Amino acid sequence: NASSVSLADAAYVKISEGDFGYVLDDVPHLVDHLPDAPTYPNPLQDHPAYSTVKQYFVNEDDTVPQKVVVQKNSRRGVHFRRAGPRQKVYFESDEVKACIVTCGGLCPGLNTVIRELVCGLAHMYNVSKIYGIQNGYKGFYSSNYLTLTPKSVDDIHKRGGTVLGTSRGGHDTKKIVDNIQDRGINQVYIIGGDGTQKGAYEIFKEIRKRGLKVSVAGIPKTIDNDIAIIDKSFGFDTAVEEAQRAIDSAHVEACSAENGIGLVKLMGRYSGFIAMYATLASRDVDCCLIPESPFYMDGEGGLLQYVERRLKENKHMVIVVAEGAGQDLIAKSLSTSEQQDASGNKLLLDIGLWLTHKIKDHFKSKKIEMTIKYIDPTYMIRAIPSNASDNVYCTLLAHSAIHGAMAGYSFTVGNVNGRHAYIPFYRVTSTRNKVKITDRMWARLLSSTNQPSFLSQKDIDEAKENDRTANKPPLPTGLSHHVAN
Ligand code: ATP
Ligand code: MG
Repeated sequence: NASSVSLADAAYVKISEGDFGYVLDDVPHLVDHLPDAPTYPNPLQDHPAYSTVKQYFVNEDDTVPQKVVVQKNSRRGVHFRRAGPRQKVYFESDEVKACIVTCGGLCPGLNTVIRELVCGLAHMYNVSKIYGIQNGYKGFYSSNYLTLTPKSVDDIHKRGGTVLGTSRGGHDTKKIVDNIQDRGINQVYIIGGDGTQKGAYEIFKEIRKRGLKVSVAGIPKTIDNDIAIIDKSFGFDTAVEEAQRAIDSAHVEACSAENGIGLVKLMGRYSGFIAMYATLASRDVDCCLIPESPFYMDGEGGLLQYVERRLKENKHMVIVVAEGAGQDLIAKSLSTSEQQDASGNKLLLDIGLWLTHKIKDHFKSKKIEMTIKYIDPTYMIRAIPSNASDNVYCTLLAHSAIHGAMAGYSFTVGNVNGRHAYIPFYRVTSTRNKVKITDRMWARLLSSTNQPSFLSQKDIDEAKENDRTANKPPLPTGLSHHVAN
């Protein structure tokens, strides 16, 4: 039985005769553990709130598989260590010195995660030394540390943004670890996107190199939902919900004019999840454009022809475009070369503005009257507090992170197939989660908007080939995996 494979050897385990005659090829991807086994009894054992739970502690060997549906004779794929409280913990409550940092762009739910980290550490594990690092990674060595208590963070989840401040741009890993070492910090909670998690992995490796007894827990933050492996990132639900309001406004504008077009640009640098889900939820959208699905403007079957046809049929139209869509088209037409922001991310050209002009020019040249209203709700969406479902998700993520750090693990935490898991850093940073245009969900979108797919056979073949190669999991890079027991 695949799930009872001992994880003591963190290598590929091959089972030729598995459940029901299926061939299961299991790859346990374990997170790193501090060298010695945890020895202290978990203080939650005496906590009245948990005394009624039938099986509160998570079995050390429990894993969460990445694939739940396995076709006959195909691999089950990778699985990860299940998150949750352990019977034994690595740190005694009064020796814990924890710090929390937020990096990258804003996303609904940051304050909820901060709050629940502080309250969870204090209330579940009686930890009293908790510090907030100000303004992102560089705050480790350039700002004072804030003292955080359950009282000081009591109502911050009702506010958008991050009370700790955040930043983009580079940082000095060695200086960060110097500060962690000097201040005797032994649990580092890092909330941020793909860049931040890469940074967390570097910090973790430096900590390991120096032999420090420090747990590093990454909590992935990405409004775009583009972090690999995990089902969904916090703030995504809130973003989709808020995006509806922008789409509603665009629809009202479009309906109120003859040949009215409402154009909404949504977040999604590389992954069009927000645009796709907002479109599916709204039903008012006639065309959704995402980075994963190439499109073209002119000629037979191009976007302009489709817009013309829709206006003729309906007299109005709503277009949703993800910020990373059509970048190749703009770059070609403006003949600009690629530029980067302070963190080394590709600087995007404004697809919304570019499309607005293109569509206007097209109808002007055909002497057809129309109006187009362009709405970019990006910074309004990023700054709102998280909704109810994200608040619950943030709470659970924070608690899973605490349980893992207390047990001596270093990891990124996330939901995998509905179960919280500890994922090795290298797994979440080596690939990006993208909308698969060969999947059913994108087909559902196309049938809901009734838009053309704009894809040539070559595009489709390429997408299928990408899917095939993207399924291969990367191997651990160099680090030995210490497993308790
Ligand atoms: P988002 O893109 O969702 O806003 P992010 O975490 O990707 O979030 P970035 O601005 O790219 O945001 O990075 C945040 C921090 O992570 C920066 O301070 C930067 O120093 C660090 N960082 C970014 N990329 C890397 C990398 N490749 N390796 C190490 N650290 C990185
Ligand atoms: Mg990023």
